[in-house]
Amino acid sequence: MTQGIGASSGIAIGKAFVLPNWEFEVPEQRIDVADFAREFERVYEGIRTSKDEINQIKDELKETVGEEETQIFDAHLAILDDPVFMNEIQGIIQRQYKAAEVAVKEAIDHFVTMFDLLEDDYMRERALDIKDVGNRLLKHLLGVPEIQLPSDTQPFILIAKEISPSQLAHLNPENVLGIVTLSGSTTSHSAIMARALGIPLVVGMEGKITESFVTGQTILIDGGDGTVYLDPAEHLINQYRDLQHKLFVAKEQLHHLADHEAVTIDGQCIKLEANISSVKELEIAMKGGAQGVGLFRTEFLYMDRQDFPTEEEQYQVYRKVVEKLHGGSVVIRTLDIGGDKHLDYYEIEEEENPFMGYRAIRISLDQKQLFKTQLRAILRASAYGTIKVMYPFITSVNEVRAANTILQEAKNELTAEGIGFADEIAVGIMIEVPAAVMIADHLAREVDFFSIGTNDLVQFTLAVDRMNEKISTMYDPYHPAIIQMLSIAVDAAKRHEIPISVCGELAGDIRALPIWLSLGVDALSMSAHSILPLKERLIHSSKLECKQVFNEVIHSSTSEEIKHVLTEYMITFEETANG
Ligand code: PEP
Ligand code: MG
Repeated sequence: MTQGIGASSGIAIGKAFVLPNWEFEVPEQRIDVADFAREFERVYEGIRTSKDEINQIKDELKETVGEEETQIFDAHLAILDDPVFMNEIQGIIQRQYKAAEVAVKEAIDHFVTMFDLLEDDYMRERALDIKDVGNRLLKHLLGVPEIQLPSDTQPFILIAKEISPSQLAHLNPENVLGIVTLSGSTTSHSAIMARALGIPLVVGMEGKITESFVTGQTILIDGGDGTVYLDPAEHLINQYRDLQHKLFVAKEQLHHLADHEAVTIDGQCIKLEANISSVKELEIAMKGGAQGVGLFRTEFLYMDRQDFPTEEEQYQVYRKVVEKLHGGSVVIRTLDIGGDKHLDYYEIEEEENPFMGYRAIRISLDQKQLFKTQLRAILRASAYGTIKVMYPFITSVNEVRAANTILQEAKNELTAEGIGFADEIAVGIMIEVPAAVMIADHLAREVDFFSIGTNDLVQFTLAVDRMNEKISTMYDPYHPAIIQMLSIAVDAAKRHEIPISVCGELAGDIRALPIWLSLGVDALSMSAHSILPLKERLIHSSKLECKQVFNEVIHSSTSEEIKHVLTEYMITFEETANG
């Protein structure tokens, strides 16, 4: 047994699929004049096969994620058809007497270097396309087998050095039983997504597992406590299958609560909503009993593509989300890139502290057109249901005012163009930086609602990098400083009579429920899989009792004391419930 860090709960037992690195060795080969025709034909054949393959991928994507995701592959087809690309390859074969694969590799390097040097961002991005499609062609010329994820009939446990949020977005959750990564942390966005998709995930296995991991090997993981077994014994498999079954039954039993009102025994209502980052996650959330979407992380729309999404593309997605909610509301958070969320096509200069750097609202206010495009798309979609706009990473009143000015400009433009949008669109902010907590009274006068982002609030209040495995035990949402911060933010919202919700990971932690009930937050937004277990606890809780528990919590001076109070309460609660 090897111990990693449990980042998304659930048990997975199955065959490992080890994600290899895709790097080609192209051996130098000389040819004769007599071989030219043969080498040309090899290139043509490679291009034909690559095009067939790309068209097949396009068809599959159209079925699963929609037409717009296929555009980058049109660009790839255009490169393969480009006579300039072909002339370069033929020229190298003829002038330098080199074999087809060497010529292709050199042609790719030549164009990539050329495009990389250009000032224009758009042209520089084309270098990525050339590299990508060129590698596909090379793969055929070298006869390297495709890195195929096992097919639908063979679900697998993915083993990877690391997994990015965009890679995760492209996996089919039905195929992926679980994931193990060497690096990573529990509050990274990949971990948050794995939880939203219900995929068990163990991270932080660096140095704990070796290259001995092989594709096809049986593996058992527990994403709750982070244990990983290679080639587990029969009795262990049986034991975990039992546990897996019990967890499944317990989850199924909660389904009847999906339509049950989220209210305590003494009448305190709390809206339970889902955090999503894609339409796919929304569908899971709806089945999981979400009363709406309290946080739509839009940055994922911007990932895994070659360029910024257009206004039209974004509008289609936002509209689809709000329409699928059938009257429920969605809080659309404007772009929050930077930190651990990168865009391949948008280079941010390397920074010493990217989490505290050029990110989120700072980028939006600096790149006004980019921001306005997103706001126009959101406004247009607001004609189809209740959409609220939320700005991330706010640290000052000025930022809110500047963002609202751009929002007003977007509204004016749409009005002038005769394009409709909702009359009333609530505008709120994330409270996720200590500065925002400390000036919450001022901020509350500027906005319609607050949403507390505990993930970042913990990192910045405690000065503990949420991605750093070495100090992960110091990342403690139950630190007394956090409890004080929460209390200050909620009090300010109450004083100004604006709703306040919580959308960080702490919102879905059952142990924290007495805090929210006692403070009187209006909504909790969380990973879809946490909603029903939390609702079950909520409908058996009393606000009055939670106030007594919180009174002890707020007067505790250490995190250990706070956790002790809350855990004791949980144990007593369960004992009473079980008779
Ligand atoms: C947060 O910081 O708590 C939050 C919800 O935002 P994110 O996790 O996307 O940074
Ligand atoms: Mg955040």
